[in-house]
Amino acid sequence: MNSDEPAAMNELNLDRQSDDYFMGEALRQAAKAFAAEEVPVGAVIVHQGRIIARAYNQVELLKDATAHAEMLAITQAESALGDWRLNECTLYVTKEPCPMCAGAVVHARLRRVVFGAPDAKGGAAGGAMNLLQFPTLNHQCEITAGVRFEECRGLLKDFFAQQRENNKASRSGTNGNGK
Ligand SMILES: [Zn+2]
Repeated sequence: MNSDEPAAMNELNLDRQSDDYFMGEALRQAAKAFAAEEVPVGAVIVHQGRIIARAYNQVELLKDATAHAEMLAITQAESALGDWRLNECTLYVTKEPCPMCAGAVVHARLRRVVFGAPDAKGGAAGGAMNLLQFPTLNHQCEITAGVRFEECRGLLKDFFAQQRENNKASRSGTNGNGK
């Protein structure tokens, strides 16, 4: 059919636009983390075009190493749906998930993961390893990488630059000559 191709293209474009849109919502969450002096990672989970969970990294606030944005969002989404199976859901997260979060994504069977900034050292969605598509696990996710990459990475870069400045300032702060 002649109409197939343009229709598919439209769908792709729409998908792209909604990926950008939902990543924007994840970025808003990441900005909240930044303001709270947490590593700025934000996540939202979308079910049938609707956001059912929003979260940002709260490791410092909760003093809990497992309080990553994705973990908090998955728990929220499960209670919103009253089911631990999130197979109709998409996770949007500003940074490539770590092995812990990727493990949780596989257990909760999310259909798709969309992330912004890749993490070559610790990422588990193809960066350092790929747990989301690990052949012997009982679930594999679709992955879309690099959505609003510049903004997602920029937030992280700014945060760590600021941390270094703060550390420098606090080291020289006790020493009057500032040397
Ligand atoms: Zn994580």
